[in-house]
Amino acid sequence: MKKIEIKNNLAKLIKENRMFHSIILSGKNYAEVITVSNDLARMFFCEKTNIDNDKCNACKRFLSNNIIDYLKIGDGNLPITKVQVQEIISRFSLTSVEKFNKKVYVIDCAENLKNDAANSLLKFLEEPPINTFSILLTKNKTDILPTIRSRCNLINVENEKIIDCKNNILVDMLYKNKEDILLSNIDIKKIEKSELIKLSEDAYEIIKEKFPLNTNLFEVWLEFILDLKFSISKNISIDNWLINVTEVI
Ligand SMILES: [Zn+2]
Repeated sequence: MKKIEIKNNLAKLIKENRMFHSIILSGKNYAEVITVSNDLARMFFCEKTNIDNDKCNACKRFLSNNIIDYLKIGDGNLPITKVQVQEIISRFSLTSVEKFNKKVYVIDCAENLKNDAANSLLKFLEEPPINTFSILLTKNKTDILPTIRSRCNLINVENEKIIDCKNNILVDMLYKNKEDILLSNIDIKKIEKSELIKLSEDAYEIIKEKFPLNTNLFEVWLEFILDLKFSISKNISIDNWLINVTEVI
């Protein structure tokens, strides 16, 4: 899901008191995962559950890391220890001292939760104290222990950096008729080689999303990228590639 969709959906659930107790945010672009997590955690406390920082008192406090009922553990490298998990459990089992009546903890790189630390967390994930929410973050959901994974709602954060490249002329070209695809060669040949390699690599990621069943197109595309990198004549590579594209599109 796109960031904006995730934020809107979860804001709705928070407002309606239907929010999942435990979620895993997973995405290859980990910076995006962190952004969603920060926004989501802030939304729990925001006076209006605003998907963006509206500078309310709670948002300000959250951004200055000044909310006792919010805790983040995990440094991305070291294994997360049982002691760290127990700290969450004891801290979050106490009655809230804040007026928010919500407690949120985040586990960064949750794949670093191994055996005994994970085991200590299981019961807490399954039967959390009232209004306690956990957000587990990872690049790859399959790296998280299945026992943890099965107790959480999984949300995939789309890699928008790639998918939002809407102005990729190589992708736009695919929506033209065959004759016009072949005529695109004039414009494409004007693009400098290194730029064209970058564009075609970006386009490949978009194509996988937009034409997921056209494996012939993937092959043609990969061949073109290789050809561009290693052949002497960029223009011949382009001509051959466009002919191949018209045969598979
Ligand atoms: Zn706010």
